[in-house]
Amino acid sequence: MSDLPRKLEAARSAVFHACVVCREVQRELATLRTITKDDKSPVTVADFASQAVIARTLGESLSGFTLVAEENAAELRKHLADGRREVPEAVLRAVKHVWPSATMDDVISAIDLGAGEPSPDSTHGFWTLDPIDGTKGFLRGEQYAVSLAWIENGSPVIGVLGCPNLSKDFSRPLDDPDRHGTIYYAVAAEGLCEVPADDADAEPLVIKRTEPADGEPVRLCESVESGHTSHDDSELIMERVGELAEPLRLDGQGKYAVVGRGQADVYLRLPRKSGYVERIWDHAAGALVAIEAGCGVTDVNGRELDFSKGRGLEANRGIVVATPALHGRVLAAMRAVGGG
Ligand code: AMP
Ligand code: MG
Repeated sequence: MSDLPRKLEAARSAVFHACVVCREVQRELATLRTITKDDKSPVTVADFASQAVIARTLGESLSGFTLVAEENAAELRKHLADGRREVPEAVLRAVKHVWPSATMDDVISAIDLGAGEPSPDSTHGFWTLDPIDGTKGFLRGEQYAVSLAWIENGSPVIGVLGCPNLSKDFSRPLDDPDRHGTIYYAVAAEGLCEVPADDADAEPLVIKRTEPADGEPVRLCESVESGHTSHDDSELIMERVGELAEPLRLDGQGKYAVVGRGQADVYLRLPRKSGYVERIWDHAAGALVAIEAGCGVTDVNGRELDFSKGRGLEANRGIVVATPALHGRVLAAMRAVGGG
């Protein structure tokens, strides 16, 4: 019997708790910067706290799982060994919001659970986690995501994407953090659901993507960081697709949800350097979210994303997400301008 429902429940609970913790750290952004004398320390704190809470929550209901996470506890141990306790103490304070009995040792052991290695083997699936995706957005107090996915046979089968600052309301500017946030979750072939990120018991809303209406301008969504995608190339490509609306730029994997839910029509991630290999935790949950909304998700060569190659999407280059009707047109425009 499939234990996907049990896994989904654990993953939803894990991401829900992590969203609570991240929001708490974000409330203390200025204080943390002052205490640690480090502008980036809040995202370090949130990264560790989010990973600890997720690993712990998964561990409570699932036994013997592999978790391939972006972070490891080495840096936290180094802080402690050097007697720099500000960051570790802040991590523990954040974790205690959802795990009141946690000790520093508990937190470090939980983070260590994320040191698993991906197995391409079909009999052993694995979890992959980005505890804070879109660190620059987190530090600006804007968009970021908590991304957890279960991979089997090289494809995401469960994806849970927490977007603690993303409003349900499309008219809200993306740089204005929402009070509630949204969580998207999907199981392969079962569709996409949306719930508020601050209400664990809310009734899920089923999300299905429709094509943009005839004559509607096409809206692109892409990274804020021009170092992560070529804004110039995306403009060149999209101009060939049709009349364009102002692009939406946001940090983190929420971009997949923004296309899935119909706020934008296309998400492009166009490699700036030929050698960059995308990390699996930056795409696994997001890709499933967009696919289950009914969108096409491939790389710039039109290939499906292959999560069987270890920690990187070694067989792929860049990302193209679009509605079914637009996906082929975007790939064709890309070929026409010499991309891919
Ligand atoms: P985004 O928020 O979409 O701009 O992407 C954030 C992610 O970009 C981070 O989690 C990094 O893993 C990833 N990243 C880092 N360097 C690059 C790069 N040169 N090209 C594409 N993605 C990158
Ligand atoms: Mg990331």
